[in-house]
Amino acid sequence: METGNPQNERRDCAVVIVGAGPCGLMLAIELGRRGISTVVLEERAAPSRFPSANATQARTMEHYRRLGFAEKVRAQGLPPDYPTDIAYFTRYTRHELARFSLPSSREARMIVRTLSGSWSAAELPHRVSQIFVEDVLRAEAGALAPVKLLPGWRMRAVRDVGYGVEVDAERSDGRQFVVLRAGFAVGADGGGSPTRKSLGYNLMGERGAERDFMGGRMFAIHLRSARLYDAMPHPRAWMYWTVNRDRRAFMASVNGRDEFTFHTQLNRDEHPNQISDAQARAMFQQAFGARLDVEIIGRSTWTAGYTLVAEKFQRGRVFLGGDAVHLFTPAGGLGYNTAVEDAVNLGWKLAAALKGWGGAALLGSYEFERQAIARRNTAYARGFADSLGLFVPPAELEDDGPAGEAARKLTGDHFNYHARFEFNIPGITFGGRYDGSPVIVSDGTAPPKDVPNEYVPTACPGGRAPHLWLGDDRSLYDALGFEFTLLRLGARPADAAPFEAAAQALKIPLATVDAADAEARDLYDADLALIRPDQIVAWRGNSADDAKAVLRRAVGRE
Ligand SMILES: Cc1cc2nc3c(=O)[nH]c(=O)nc-3n(C[C@H](O)[C@H](O)[C@H](O)COP(=O)(O)OP(=O)(O)OC[C@H]3O[C@@H](n4cnc5c(N)ncnc54)[C@H](O)[C@@H]3O)c2cc1C
Repeated sequence: METGNPQNERRDCAVVIVGAGPCGLMLAIELGRRGISTVVLEERAAPSRFPSANATQARTMEHYRRLGFAEKVRAQGLPPDYPTDIAYFTRYTRHELARFSLPSSREARMIVRTLSGSWSAAELPHRVSQIFVEDVLRAEAGALAPVKLLPGWRMRAVRDVGYGVEVDAERSDGRQFVVLRAGFAVGADGGGSPTRKSLGYNLMGERGAERDFMGGRMFAIHLRSARLYDAMPHPRAWMYWTVNRDRRAFMASVNGRDEFTFHTQLNRDEHPNQISDAQARAMFQQAFGARLDVEIIGRSTWTAGYTLVAEKFQRGRVFLGGDAVHLFTPAGGLGYNTAVEDAVNLGWKLAAALKGWGGAALLGSYEFERQAIARRNTAYARGFADSLGLFVPPAELEDDGPAGEAARKLTGDHFNYHARFEFNIPGITFGGRYDGSPVIVSDGTAPPKDVPNEYVPTACPGGRAPHLWLGDDRSLYDALGFEFTLLRLGARPADAAPFEAAAQALKIPLATVDAADAEARDLYDADLALIRPDQIVAWRGNSADDAKAVLRRAVGRE
């Protein structure tokens, strides 16, 4: 890749992002916060108001906290005292089979300070519809002076010209056309990604898995009913599932008052384009188990059964992130969260390259690090979909009498297990690792086993910096610098001077932060740890003797 601009051409911006979904918006925020001029093209003139993702994982919330807007996100969606339970029913007005009780957003804010082990974190998950999260992301990106959001503009072509990129963009109504010149382009343009297609990259893996549920064509209704809660004889929940032999479904509460999204799998003889509103309401009522008139706000179709990852995430100056490079079956709630972490990983690296302190290997590490995570996370989601969707409801499930009761007990046992398997996932959320990455300095120790439901805090380089609450009740993450941080651990701080001198010589922004507690020293099992801007441990050790080599490696200049 050429680094100069031999044509001495005027650039419109440093980075063009295609797509203003969660990935594109988060990347714009990461870049804008670093002063990188960024244009975001979004073909929709107005954002989609159809709720899709419902779960913001704890790690994503930690990144929102790092950027200063976690509280804005936590204030969105359900009321602060609304429980985020996951509950399973034969039909919504009939038998409750299983329930996993989880805290309201108000409780989550307090509980997180008392947790340790698997849930030692700065933030807990937040159950909120993607439309509300995107509103916050859009406002945050739009408020940054270096970021220009262009809704109603479609990318038509991306060309890597060696010293930069050219992006053809036209207004979605076809009335204006421009060629944008930039240093880099990023396709965050969703599952159909025109950017990925223009690079000729395929999505590899499984498409079209068939299951009793969550494997096939899905039909979704965004509905309104002020009477739904009154008509349901069960405690409130965030996510409601039905298990029966003719209408399996899930429904998420959108605002805790009167809006819900209802998703059901279509039978072979049901075709999305031929479903009238009356038929859509009948599907809902079949799952509800009673007549309830609902207003249909919107409808949508999607496919469950994807476990797909792109063969490449980058070519030259063009990068891909989010659904453009990984498609999930949304069990576990990982698609948007993985998309956000792609943006977090790429954002600081692009900025470092543009500012000159990031080396060639740094940009190359994006694909290495994120493709492995995409494979891991899509595989976990597939496992959840199997546990959920391969379960075939017993024939007697809805019968009165002992046979029905036994069938409900068996089904309840399965879903009580399943709910904790799918929705208590600190291992997935916090345990993603970049072992073997060219910009991680291994210390030869082995990381804990990667399992979905348990996270073992470790400063073994390549993973999330272990979290702790500092003496003044501050999160360690609030104390870290915005770029690299040298963490000095324990009561007798090690000499930071070699790192500070090397960082200055290499023009790498580095903050030195002390965590004097013995607990912090024990947690990190080292006197020093180098934390990346994305809060990943790049290196740990007891001496700063190799400071220059460590820093050069961590920013891809070796
Ligand atoms: C029913 C359902 C439930 C889900 N639940 C969850 C969940 O609980 N948790 C979770 O993590 N994920 C969930 N997901 C997945 C989540 O919705 C996606 O993974 C997420 O939206 C991906 O974000 P993205 O930014 O990569 O892509 P998108 O959100 O698809 O955004 C891409 C954007 O690019 C724009 N675009 C496309 N082409 C062009 C072009 N040529 N020019 C300009 N703009 C263009 C599009 O208009 C779009 O706005 C769910 C998905 C579904 C369907």
